[in-house]
Amino acid sequence: MAVYIKKPEPSQKLRVLGVGAKFDVSGYPSLLSAKRKMRFGFIYPAVGKGGRLIPLLKVLQSNACMGNCYYCANRQGRDFRRVKFSPSEMAKLFIRYYEGGVVKGLFLSSAISARPTQVEEEMLETVRLVREKYGFRGYVHLKILPGTEEDLIAEAAKFADRLSINLEAPNQTYLSRLSPFKDYSGQLLRGLERIARVHRESPLKAGVTTQLVVGPSGESDRELMELSHKLYKGLGLWRVYYSGFTPLKDTPFEGLPPCSKWREARLYQADFLLRRYGFTPSELPYDGEGNLPQDMDPKLGWALAHPERFPVEVETASFEELLRVPGIGRISAQRIVNLRRKEGIGGLEGLKRMGAVVKRARNFITIKGKFSPSPQKGEKEVDEQLFLWEEL
Ligand code: SF4
Repeated sequence: MAVYIKKPEPSQKLRVLGVGAKFDVSGYPSLLSAKRKMRFGFIYPAVGKGGRLIPLLKVLQSNACMGNCYYCANRQGRDFRRVKFSPSEMAKLFIRYYEGGVVKGLFLSSAISARPTQVEEEMLETVRLVREKYGFRGYVHLKILPGTEEDLIAEAAKFADRLSINLEAPNQTYLSRLSPFKDYSGQLLRGLERIARVHRESPLKAGVTTQLVVGPSGESDRELMELSHKLYKGLGLWRVYYSGFTPLKDTPFEGLPPCSKWREARLYQADFLLRRYGFTPSELPYDGEGNLPQDMDPKLGWALAHPERFPVEVETASFEELLRVPGIGRISAQRIVNLRRKEGIGGLEGLKRMGAVVKRARNFITIKGKFSPSPQKGEKEVDEQLFLWEEL
């Protein structure tokens, strides 16, 4: 039986509803976010431009849910405290934290305790109060619930910087293994398409995003990457987030293994290659089951599978060819192209000054025809720099 707190204080509610919101991810593989832990269970350090950390109040309006998704902490019938903020309570509390300098933005979601439109209206009322009554101009990410009407989404877009809806899975077959009552194309995908349409007509400052649950439904990385690519190209999504599954007590998935943090991190890296490096999903290096290697980053995996493309001569290679070299990112590739004619490369030291990770790149390049490889070491690392300038 769910336990309802009688007349809880707002701070009590915040602790409960902050914990309920932590399963929505927004921007960083958990392998790297170990250093960026949530504070008090509800202050989430999102990563902004240039690696700046932006503390967000990340919270549910309510954790009471009619849904029974197998993996979810808030599912109906799970025995724990159910609480709800009224819009005025939530808005006031957020502003108190904002004015106290504790948070700089709001990420508001909710479980589905009634008709989705009714719950969405309450969340929207919170955001409206935050904007109109309290004059807050900073970042607001508002979750759209499955089944929300398009005119309400359009209204939400007037107040939020970002709207999102969680697709959870690559298709209905996988979704049914996670959430028996959700309809993939009629509810989730249609919801995302509605948000994307609203965004096209009146662009949101921080775009449209979605989240996928990784692991328990048995989907492959290839299927996830194909879906993400379709969403980036077809709907103009800003980001797809990958939430590695963690089993929770008293849920039907309690006994399932957690998703490996390396799998989650490699998905973020592969996603980055799709969005920023011109890779297509079919180029990524999968194993026989359609999964990315976990012991090396996917760009290195691709390079090792394509010896015919290397070594690349740094003095003459195009920007696109440089981008494919492990250890050379977009910024260093641009610097190489800009500076090589004026100043020359200056050998491996010069490359390092341009921002390349030389210990990796040197195995795949020549400089003025000279090849200077280094012995390969273990590659099980995630280049944190890759994510630092990602926005939220
Ligand atoms: S709809 Fe499903 S995922 Fe969403 S809060 Fe309810 S049980 Fe959890």
